Formats: sequence, structure tokens, C-alpha cells
Amino acid sequence: MPQNTAPKTAAEHSPLYQTYLRAEIAPERGEGAWIIAADGTRYLDFMGGIAVNVLGHAHPHLVEALTAQAQKLWHVSNLFQIPGQAKLGERLVAATFADKVFFTNSGAEAVECAIKTARHYHAEAGAPERYRLITFEGAFHGRTLATIAAGGQDKYLEGFGPKVEGFDQVPFADHEAVKAAIGPQTAGILIEPVQGEGGIRAVPNQCLQGLRDLCDEHGLLLVLDEIQCGIGRTGKLFAHEWAGITPDIMAIAKGIGGGFPLGACLATEAAAASMTVGSHGSTFGGNPLAMAVGNAVLDIVLAEDFLDHVAQTGLRLKQKLAAIADAHRDTIEDVRGLGLMLGLKCRVPNGDVIAAARAQGLLLAAAGENVVRLLPPLIIGDEEIAEAATRLDRALTTLTRSDAAE
Ligand SMILES: *Cc1c(COP(=O)(O)O)cnc(C)c1O
Repeated sequence: MPQNTAPKTAAEHSPLYQTYLRAEIAPERGEGAWIIAADGTRYLDFMGGIAVNVLGHAHPHLVEALTAQAQKLWHVSNLFQIPGQAKLGERLVAATFADKVFFTNSGAEAVECAIKTARHYHAEAGAPERYRLITFEGAFHGRTLATIAAGGQDKYLEGFGPKVEGFDQVPFADHEAVKAAIGPQTAGILIEPVQGEGGIRAVPNQCLQGLRDLCDEHGLLLVLDEIQCGIGRTGKLFAHEWAGITPDIMAIAKGIGGGFPLGACLATEAAAASMTVGSHGSTFGGNPLAMAVGNAVLDIVLAEDFLDHVAQTGLRLKQKLAAIADAHRDTIEDVRGLGLMLGLKCRVPNGDVIAAARAQGLLLAAAGENVVRLLPPLIIGDEEIAEAATRLDRALTTLTRSDAAE
């Protein structure tokens, strides 16, 4: 090992894996769309833990649900009845295409369950060779060994040994390429209706409809990853509803927990039928605390008019962003996305825009294709929109194309 004589940086002193490039901000508490740092600085949070805090921070209904459950029971094995699971499961089934639900603690685990369900379906139908899933360039499905293989991004795969077998990646929204990729080993198609990490890229409705048709024609399962775009983010409970189609299997997480670790794999009766006793499991998945919070999130997201409010708020924010983009053509190329899942394609490095916004007390997230994501809580109103627009406008004014490091 080479001897490093340079003094240690703060990061090197940290006991933590250095897998994240962390900002200096240390949030101490939150209130709605705001995060307050230990030094009292207030940040408008339009990143939301990356699409997690759908109801903002410290929402009274969620705090009440979590603390009430914490007084009663935290954890019990899935070998027992968990009434909160049955309740949340029934509500998800009633609100979606699904007949069956498996609860997890994270998005990647929900996708793992979705992949296993798709493979098992064919295996139990006497075709175990049908285990391959068609996936799309720019996809993100998580960081486990199987989900990095599904995402297919070299930067996440390199150095981690052989890539998990069984994923065939095709260009984004390329119907002919999907058709050509279907073979005797294909089990299904895995897709995010709106790519999040990939750069807020919405799959055209017609393309999702085409995938549904291909699945029906070839006996494939349509598997959706709505971990980021689901739970009201786009103004519908789930983004695929805009296309008027339904999947066979769907992974959700992020928003459903409102900040508490919670994910789920939803499936039709037919797709889930092969997942019998012992075929899958989780120690923590579906624990009473997570179920209390998940049910509380649905109390609000499923309330009348809530989703219409998201769609309308999203439109108003998008209009503001379009005006800002017009005024800053040197830094912003276009505005994309739907509902409160919006992106700014940048002409300068997206990291510069994020840093400039942070300096103005506005928190935004990066994405692929040099996009900056705006993922505010779904409860924002005109006041937060106006405040965000003012701060973003100020931030972009501090940036000009000439000082971009291009
Ligand atoms: C965040 C995300 C995941 C992974 O979720 P984790 O909870 O980090 O495991 C998977 N798919 C999509 C679309 C996501 O946005």
C-alpha cells in the first residue's frame, strides 16, 4: 500500500463508507417543505429525500400514527398476523390493478420481489427457462446485485463481479428493439413509467400501451417500477394510469412510507399465485411501525381532491419553471416531467445549478442527462412555489454559461 502522508480530510476521518459526496448541511428538523439546519438556516426542500417525503417533514398525521404505534408494538415476525399489513394491503389492492401485496423495507427489495415473482410465475407454469427481463437504457432499479444488473449502468456494475444474468437492455422507448429482444427465454418487461434517476424521462403513453400489447401477445409479464413516480407524484396515484394500462407486477417504495422505510411488490392474482409458502420472505418487511405510517400516508393521498391538487400544483410550478427557463436560456435548455416530478435540462453542469440553488437555500436533486430534479412534497401550495421560483431565479442569475466548467 502506498504511504499517504497528506493530512486526513474530514471525510477520511469519518467512520462511514465514503460512498456519498455529502453536502456540509446537517439537517436537524423539518417542517412541511422546510428543513432547518442546526445553525438555524432554513432550506426549502424540493428534493424530498429524493422523492420520499411526499407529505413533507413532520406531518402531524404521520407523527401521530408512528408514535401511537410505537407505544404498542414495533416488531413481530411475519409468522404472525399483522393487522396493519392486511389493512394497507387491502387499500393498495382496492386502489390499483393488484390482487396481492408483499411488503419490503426498500425499493430495491421491492424490485427483487418483482423479479422473483416474474421468474417464478413462468417456472411454476413449466417454463423455468423463461427468466429474462427486457429493461431500458437509463433505467435505475436499485443497488442490490440483481437490481444493478437490471439497471444495466456500467458505473454501478463495474468491480462487483459477474453481472447477475437475465437482463436484456434496449434503448429507451424503442418499440422495435423490444420486439426484437423478445425470445424463448423472455419472462417479461421491466420499466419505470417515468425514469427518475435517468433524468425525468416520461415513457410516452403510446409506448406503455405498446408494451402492454406485446406482453399480452407473447405471454410476458409487464413489470413496472413506480418507486419514484408512484404515490401521487405525477398527479395520479400511479404514473401508468395516465396511459390507461395496468401492469402484472409493480414495485413501489419511497413515497408510500412518507420517510419511513417501506416498499411493496404488488401483483395480480395470476402473477402472484406461484409465490407460495417459503418462496420469499423478509424479517422486517411489513412491520407494524411501517404499516402504521403507510396507512397514514394513504389516508391523505387517497383523500378526495388530493391528487387533483397535485396535478394542478404541478402545472403551476411547471409554468413558473418555463418562465424561468425562458429568462435563463444560457443555463436551462428545457423543462420536463409531470405533476410534481419535474426536471430542468441544463446547459451548464447540473451540479453547478444545484450548488447555486443550495446557496440560495433551495434543495434540488441531480439526475442523468444533465437534469436537475424538483421533487417537492405533494402538499406544497402557491407560497412555496413562489418562494422556490424566486430562489431558483436568483441562483441561475449567479451562474452564466461562461463560468461553466465545460
Ligand atoms: C430509488 C429507486 C429505487 C431503489 O430504491 P431503494 O429504496 O434505494 O432501494 C428503485 N427504482 C427506482 C425507480 C427508484 O427511484
